[in-house]
Amino acid sequence: MKTRTLRKDKVNIITLGCSKNMVDSEVLSGQLLANDIDVVHENKRTDHNIVVVNTCGFIEKAKEESINTILEQVELKSRGRLDKVYVTGCLSHRYRDDLEKEIPGVDAWFGTMELPLILKQFEADYKTELIGERLLATPQHYAYLKISEGCNRTCAFCAIPLMRGGHISKPIEEIIKEAEGLVKRGVKEIMLISQELTYYGLDIYKKRMLADLLKYLSDVKGLEWIRLHYAYPSKFPLEVLDVMKERENICNYLDMPLQHAANNMLKAMKRQITREEMEELIVSVREKVPGICLRTTLIAGFPGETEDDVEELKMFLQKQRFDRVGIFTYSHEEGTSAYDLKDDVPADEKERRAREIMEVQQEISYELNQEKIGKTFKTIIDKKEAGRYLGRTEFDSVEVDNEVVIHSSKKLPIGEFVNVKVTKAYDYDLEGEVV
Ligand code: SF4
Repeated sequence: MKTRTLRKDKVNIITLGCSKNMVDSEVLSGQLLANDIDVVHENKRTDHNIVVVNTCGFIEKAKEESINTILEQVELKSRGRLDKVYVTGCLSHRYRDDLEKEIPGVDAWFGTMELPLILKQFEADYKTELIGERLLATPQHYAYLKISEGCNRTCAFCAIPLMRGGHISKPIEEIIKEAEGLVKRGVKEIMLISQELTYYGLDIYKKRMLADLLKYLSDVKGLEWIRLHYAYPSKFPLEVLDVMKERENICNYLDMPLQHAANNMLKAMKRQITREEMEELIVSVREKVPGICLRTTLIAGFPGETEDDVEELKMFLQKQRFDRVGIFTYSHEEGTSAYDLKDDVPADEKERRAREIMEVQQEISYELNQEKIGKTFKTIIDKKEAGRYLGRTEFDSVEVDNEVVIHSSKKLPIGEFVNVKVTKAYDYDLEGEVV
C-alpha cells in the first residue's frame, strides 16, 4: 500500500495498559515484520506514517489515557503527519460502536481478538507458523510470557472478562516453544502473565496444570529466572510452591492480587475467599517457600467500604507484611456486577484511603529493605542511567518493584547477572556494590 508521505509504510505501535496488551502488540509487530512491513514500538522519531494504538479499557483513568492518545494521533493525521490511525485493544473492544461515531478520524477499530483483521488493512496475511514469535518491546534480556487469555472469574469490579472473554489456556507445547524461542534470542528472565494464572489448564486439560507447566519451563536451558504474576488466591494450587522451592530458576516471588481483607468487602467483590482463608494461604506459602517475596494488589473505595473496613485492611497489611503492594482506587465500570451498587465513596475519599493504605505499606517496605543491608543478591543489570547501573534481584519484577542502584567504576554487562552486596536501603529501592 503506497502512501503519499513515504517511500515505504512504517508502522508505529503505541501500547497502553498492562503487560498482556504489550504481548499482543509484540505479536502484531512480529506478524507485520514477517509480512515485510516496517514496524517500530513506541517510536521516539516521527519517521512513521501509520499508527496502531493498542488501548486499555480497564478503569476510568486508563480509558482517559487511551482516548487522549487516540485524539493526539488523529490530530497528527489531520495535519498530514500520518496517513492512517488504527485502534485496537480493550477500549476499542468494549466501546467500538460509540467511539466510531465520536472519533471519525480513526481509519478502523478492532477488538482484542482481531489480529488477522488488522493485518488485512496492510494486505498482510496472518502467519500461523509464527505462533510464539514476536518482536519484543522489552529489553532483550527479559520478556513477558502470556500463558492464557481471558478469565472465568466474576469479580464484581472487573470489566476484563467483558473485553477479553472467558479463560483460554495456551497448550503447554506452544508455551515451551515460545520460551525456547525467547531464550535463543537472549532472554534470561520471563514474567509469566495472564488474567488469572492459577486457572491454567482447567479448560484444556480439565485440571490445574500450572505446576506441571513450571517444571517444563524450568527445564528450558538458559532460562535463569521465571516469575509468577496474577495468581488468584481462591483454590490456589499449592503444588506450584513445591516446584518453586525445588527449582533454582523459578524466582521465590509470587504476585497474588487480594484486593481487600475485610470479609464484607471480599464478599461484595465476589472474590470467592474470606480473610481467614487468605491468611491460611499466606502461612502455607511462607512455610513452603521461606523468604518468598509476596506482592499483592488492593482496591480502595469499593461501594459500601467503611472506615472500619479500611482500618481492617491496614491492620491486615501490618500483620502480613507483604514485600510489595500496589493499589487502585475503585472505578465504577458499566457492565460489571458492582455497577448495580451505589458508588458511594467520593473520589477524593478514595484517593485519601489509598494514600493512607500505601503509607502503612511504605513503612513496612522500608523496614523489610533495611534487613537486606549487608546481604549479597544475584542481580540482573537492566540499564545504565545517569552514570549508575540499575538492576533487580529475584525479589523484584520489572517496572513495579524495587530497583537496585549499583555504583561501579567498571563497565557492567547489561542483561547479565552480577552479585551485589546491599549497602543502603530506602522505602522502595536498594543501593549496593558488585562483589
Ligand atoms: S480474576 Fe477477577 S480481577 Fe482478575 S481478571 Fe478475572 S475477573 Fe478480573
